[in-house]
Amino acid sequence: MSIDFEIPAEAQAIRKKVRQWVQDECIPAEKELDHKPLKDVLDPLRKKARAQGLWCPFIPKEHGGMGLGPLANALVQMELGESILGALSMNTQGPDDASMMTLLAHGTEHQKEKFLKPILNGEKRVCFSMTEKAAGADATGMRTTAVKDGNANYILNGEKWFSSSASVADIAFVIARTDPDAPRHKQHSAFLVELPNPGYKIKRNVPNMAITGPHYDQLSGGHSEIEIKDLKVPAEDLLGGEGNGFNMGQHRLAYGRLRHGMHNIAKAQRALDMATKRVTERSTFGVLLADRQAVQFMLAECASELYMARLMLLHIAYKAEKGMDLAQENSIAKVFLAHMVHKVVDTAIQLHGALGYSQDTILAKWYTQIRSQRLVDGPDEVHKWKVGRNVIKAFRRDGTTAAAAGGDLGV
Ligand SMILES: Cc1cc2nc3c(=O)[nH]c(=O)nc-3n(C[C@H](O)[C@H](O)[C@H](O)COP(=O)(O)OP(=O)(O)OC[C@H]3O[C@@H](n4cnc5c(N)ncnc54)[C@H](O)[C@@H]3O)c2cc1C
Repeated sequence: MSIDFEIPAEAQAIRKKVRQWVQDECIPAEKELDHKPLKDVLDPLRKKARAQGLWCPFIPKEHGGMGLGPLANALVQMELGESILGALSMNTQGPDDASMMTLLAHGTEHQKEKFLKPILNGEKRVCFSMTEKAAGADATGMRTTAVKDGNANYILNGEKWFSSSASVADIAFVIARTDPDAPRHKQHSAFLVELPNPGYKIKRNVPNMAITGPHYDQLSGGHSEIEIKDLKVPAEDLLGGEGNGFNMGQHRLAYGRLRHGMHNIAKAQRALDMATKRVTERSTFGVLLADRQAVQFMLAECASELYMARLMLLHIAYKAEKGMDLAQENSIAKVFLAHMVHKVVDTAIQLHGALGYSQDTILAKWYTQIRSQRLVDGPDEVHKWKVGRNVIKAFRRDGTTAAAAGGDLGV
């Protein structure tokens, strides 16, 4: 079996272009956020990005995107995560991006016209409301109900919790139970809800441990608690058919998990660069920090983690390009990448000393934000549970665990 690590020239070129875009336009524009309304920063940035063909990377060209395949998209996303404005500038921010993908794959023509088109145009944003106080890691426990009112509408009642970007969204992708008697994974359905809507009431944005800056809700998502009361949804806005809500949710989460990981690469790379810059400039006890082996070891560990993370994502992108099943790798990478970025940012903070703990660098903000990644899109333990079960299954089937541990790499 051959392994080809060559990145096609076209993908290399687009990566370079996006890298330049992030470095030259997005990172400098971040400073403007302190004294300007987000709209005044983002609108011109988006206009410029779009004029350069930098828009909705993985969306097919006929829908106005760049039509990138999984590998080129992964390379692009690995650059965008470095700036808080990166993904937003190209309309590929979470949570919208994953819902774009699901609407594209499963939406009816009516739904594509009504919901997807304005999202792809950057005119509307969409949030995802699945988690409830009653049910998170085990989403099949959701209690919000959807009852058919004649043939024309569904009426939803219940609550949602931690719906990211709900307070800035124009559309909500809501999962509710349509049939309590169906098998566990067939009880729920997905609905597209136009916002604002009196039946979908945002009670508050839940304060959390993340350090917030200007425009936090729009930039990083403000996570809302929502009351759903007699929410009327036209039957034509049911997505993916009755009983498929859990599948629709999982469809969009599969990409969401990877997007976090791809952006983590960019963050970790920037953090390692910052740490290395710092130790090449700072001396203690008469010795440059960069010349101390203990410090070199710290950098080496970060570099190893980053290297593993990159390889994982590139392997997953390769599998996606070939249409291969990647559920196992997706779960392994989801957990690894969340820990990787945590370790690298933590090391960078350590090497910056008090400066790292201050808010004078981006590190402290990232540190408080990335903690959530061990919880969102399925907590560590749920993914490890699944991965471990697959390890045992592979052993029972093949007499070796290789198939569940990257074995198709041929090792
Ligand atoms: C920043 C942030 C953004 C979010 N955005 C969204 C969003 O946009 N839309 C949305 O619907 N939801 C969102 N969520 C919710 C998120 O998906 C849930 O928090 C997550 O699924 C975990 O559910 P829970 O919080 O209810 O934890 P619980 O289900 O109560 O689980 C608590 C803990 O129990 C442990 N655990 C659970 N199951 C197992 C198991 N099988 N084996 C071993 N241990 C286990 C894990 O350690 C887990 O962290 C977001 C959450 C955060 C923090």
